Amino acid sequence: MNKILIIEDEQRVADLLRHGLEEMGYLAFVAYDAEMGLRLFRSGQYDLVISDIVLPKMSGFDLVKEIKKHNKNIPVIMLTALGTTDDKLEGFDAGADDYMVKPFDIRELEARVRVLLKRVVSDDAGLPEKELTYADLEVNLLMKTVYRDKQEIKLTPKEFNLLTYMVQNPERVLSRTEIAEKVWGTHFDTGTNFIDVYINYLRKKIDRDFDIKLIHTKPGMGFILHSEYENQA
Ligand code: CA
Repeated sequence: MNKILIIEDEQRVADLLRHGLEEMGYLAFVAYDAEMGLRLFRSGQYDLVISDIVLPKMSGFDLVKEIKKHNKNIPVIMLTALGTTDDKLEGFDAGADDYMVKPFDIRELEARVRVLLKRVVSDDAGLPEKELTYADLEVNLLMKTVYRDKQEIKLTPKEFNLLTYMVQNPERVLSRTEIAEKVWGTHFDTGTNFIDVYINYLRKKIDRDFDIKLIHTKPGMGFILHSEYENQA
């Protein structure tokens, strides 16, 4: 089932969208401002985003730019009550794939959603996901490359696998046991600390030269990939 994220501060419009999309068989989630939209977007795997332009806390244009930084392939439809050509151009500049002027017919929106979702499917042609992103990290699974803030970071195969697993499971505490099983395919004696060693190698390469630290330790529990972890502590 396709997951759609709706970012719209007008409750009435948000409800209309959510109900309409749910009736068509999509899973729909609503954020009422840009910050909440970004947070939901980062913590879930969505197939499509519908975003209003005039939003509290951040404009829809900036929000779409952020979203596209995380995942440049995700289709985005922008909504506006204004409908001027300037708006439309700015929306496309920000990376929007399509555009709807309010008030709109929900069936027309559904048709556009369907077209965009189909395009993604045919682009991928059934291949597994090639590129994972989290914050300013980009992991290319085919090329086995890692970039942070556009700078390439060289990793060993084990470090690469560990980072991939963390990027696939962001903002969630991963226990040492879980990491050992999923990354090394082994159950291990709890006395060993090889995971801590690899986490430290990764930290040196991924975080040392950057202000925002992504890899954090949850004492006694494990490790977490999170771009805003300090703020939460
Ligand atoms: Ca609005």
